[in-house]
Amino acid sequence: MSKIYVTSPFLPPLEEFIPYLEQIWQNKTLTNGGPFHQQLEQALAEYLGVKHLSLFANGTLALLTAFQALRLTGEVITTPYSFVATSHSLLWNGLTPVFADIDPHTYNINPDRIEELITPNTTAILPVHCYGIPCDIEKIQKIADVYGLRVIYDAAHAFNVRKNETSILNHGDLSVLSFHATKVFNTFEGGAIISHDLKTKQRIDYLKNFGFAGETRIVAPGINAKMNEVEAAFGLLQLKHIDKALDERKTIYQRYCEMLNGLEGLTFVDVPDDVSWNHAYFPVLIEPHFGMSRDGVYELFKADAILTRRYFYPLISSFAMYRGFPTSAEEHLPVANDIAEKVLCLPIYPGMTLEEQDRVVNALKRASLVGQAQGNEPTPVTEIAV
Ligand SMILES: *Cc1c(COP(=O)(O)O)cnc(C)c1O
Repeated sequence: MSKIYVTSPFLPPLEEFIPYLEQIWQNKTLTNGGPFHQQLEQALAEYLGVKHLSLFANGTLALLTAFQALRLTGEVITTPYSFVATSHSLLWNGLTPVFADIDPHTYNINPDRIEELITPNTTAILPVHCYGIPCDIEKIQKIADVYGLRVIYDAAHAFNVRKNETSILNHGDLSVLSFHATKVFNTFEGGAIISHDLKTKQRIDYLKNFGFAGETRIVAPGINAKMNEVEAAFGLLQLKHIDKALDERKTIYQRYCEMLNGLEGLTFVDVPDDVSWNHAYFPVLIEPHFGMSRDGVYELFKADAILTRRYFYPLISSFAMYRGFPTSAEEHLPVANDIAEKVLCLPIYPGMTLEEQDRVVNALKRASLVGQAQGNEPTPVTEIAV
């Protein structure tokens, strides 16, 4: 049986990429802000509806640079319910992550848990638009304004997400995107920082190029985080096909909702009505009354060659380099711990066939039947007959 992965990279037709490569071979500019890099920065800023965009070699380097650009120090309030790069980028900057619990409906940082964590050392808030679903932007900004904090959004999942018709990337001081192969829009590896004024973009661009502000002038201990021309060219090609890919995601998402409707013990994520979403993920909570535990379902899928992912389990706060922080304690993060124990992300990607989706849905229905037959109690993994 062929394997079904949680995601599959979005690849435009190969023959359409050849002319881009020929151009690179012709003009011999391979990196350092070449023509494709410049074109992609402009085209993406226009497509996403943002003022300034700086391309990066990947999202993690973009996060590292975002904190450098704002000269953050001390403590940063963030969410434990994310990919490790969110907090790792704080540690790489010598910043201390302070974890706030998440909202039980959106799985994003709970703004009502932020204020109690602010100390004289707090300089910023680092929320994540988890699964591309917008954070409570207004409440977060209000707190930031009152306390004089910066807001940097990890928007790695939030490509082209809009709220009331405007990009959510326009909020906060900076937003950071990832264009990794597994993301909605990819450049193999890549990322970007969205900024709102030219001076900030300028500083970010110095920082990603060793701190060079001219041939002999170095203004900061910058890093090498430049996107190369092959990646930028691929981004330009991908951008031509992105609307179709986003439509496909939406169709697959809606078909899941229809097919899984009525199956007991599943909870789907809340997407507010005023949000134009990118359907980046299909997270589902396997509740106790589903009959089988989340890990039971995960293993059953695996036996069927369906490789789902437990995004985000384990929580960042539970890894060795984080669990010593006071705010990592399980009692401090009850909602995040609960969701992390129940969540499963089902496969969703452009190009997913109806047969593949049927296989996923049937496996989940079978898991439900096995569970119900066993008396509607969560079942330990070892007891499942597959
Ligand atoms: C993918 C991801 C990153 C890291 O991006 P890379 O481009 O892989 O370095 C950071 N934060 C979140 C939430 C992500 O999902």
